[in-house]
Amino acid sequence: MSQATPDLRGLLERVTTLANESTDIERTLRAAGEDVAATTGLTLLEVDLDPDGDGRDAPPWSFPVLCGGSVVARLSFRPEDRETEPSPELVDAMSALGRQLGLVVERDRIRAQLEATAAELERSNRELEQFAYVASHDLQEPLRKIVGFSELLEQRYAAELEQLEGDAGDYLRYVTEGARRMARLIEDLLRYSRVGRRRPALRPLDLDEVVATATDRLEVAITEADADVRVDGPLPAVMGDPDQLLDLLANLIGNACKYRGDEPLVVRISAAPEDDQRVAVTVTDTGIGIDPVHAERIFEIFQRLHPQSRYEGSGIGLAICRRIVEHHGGRIWVESRPGDGARFTFTLPTAPEHADA
Ligand code: ADP
Repeated sequence: MSQATPDLRGLLERVTTLANESTDIERTLRAAGEDVAATTGLTLLEVDLDPDGDGRDAPPWSFPVLCGGSVVARLSFRPEDRETEPSPELVDAMSALGRQLGLVVERDRIRAQLEATAAELERSNRELEQFAYVASHDLQEPLRKIVGFSELLEQRYAAELEQLEGDAGDYLRYVTEGARRMARLIEDLLRYSRVGRRRPALRPLDLDEVVATATDRLEVAITEADADVRVDGPLPAVMGDPDQLLDLLANLIGNACKYRGDEPLVVRISAAPEDDQRVAVTVTDTGIGIDPVHAERIFEIFQRLHPQSRYEGSGIGLAICRRIVEHHGGRIWVESRPGDGARFTFTLPTAPEHADA
């Protein structure tokens, strides 16, 4: 009596569909085995996901699943008549199925590996984040002492320092200045790491209000720069974290004031829909501008284009901006040329139409 062989093509199609739908490899192998059993009249005995040896001693009704040249699983059946051997057609069909299932196993292994790598990456990122936070936080205390006591020295013993031989007064000033600068750096680092540690609490926000608060916060800088800040309002409502968007706009408007040139400074804030889900907000200034070759670099942490003596700063502000925007699912970029002002644009999710901003 001739043995029934499975319809190989149909079987492979069903196995592929199943493998795409399920990430449970054992279930997929079992379903494939049951499919074979149903079409051949065999009984599925076992799905062995941890087979021993190379299978040379395996019984004739046990078929290998091959992955990368090794046997990674076995499907074992029982025929109605124990004495019969599988026909060459059935052996051929089962070896094609075994190779196909092997690909499924391999895909599953790669996926598991990727998941493990992603989890490891996330863990080490969190650890790094925590390290940066704790280190910056703990550094603040001793630094405060250095700044405080050297300031005290400067104030209380100014006359004595004057009389000291050599450059004692200058040395003390360098210490104070250095410590102050370090304190600012650490403060900015903490701000940067805080953005990474906290998921933004998105809610509908009126951008006009956020801009107004940012300009209030920057009143001194704006007055010093004699800047004309113009808002092409009304700006649209967006989904955002109020504190983070305030930081973002204050950083950009603050930079516009800091990197001003000789021309009168105009800072313009406007917004336009990017698509039906995003709005693009632009902060344009008439300042010194940026060479386009640095357009990417300036968003990296500690990247500055000027010495401290020209413009003070830590090189963290735009890195914070990028973090904030990315946490809102958007992107930020700059268009500029030296001497031609800078135009920073970032995208944010639009608030749903009837939301209260
Ligand atoms: P910081 O201002 O502390 O140096 P940022 O990360 O805010 O750090 O900016 C990085 C660099 O990008 C600045 O050092 C400056 O060279 C450049 N930059 C930022 N904003 C502007 C701007 N509006 N106009 C010209 N250059 C800018």
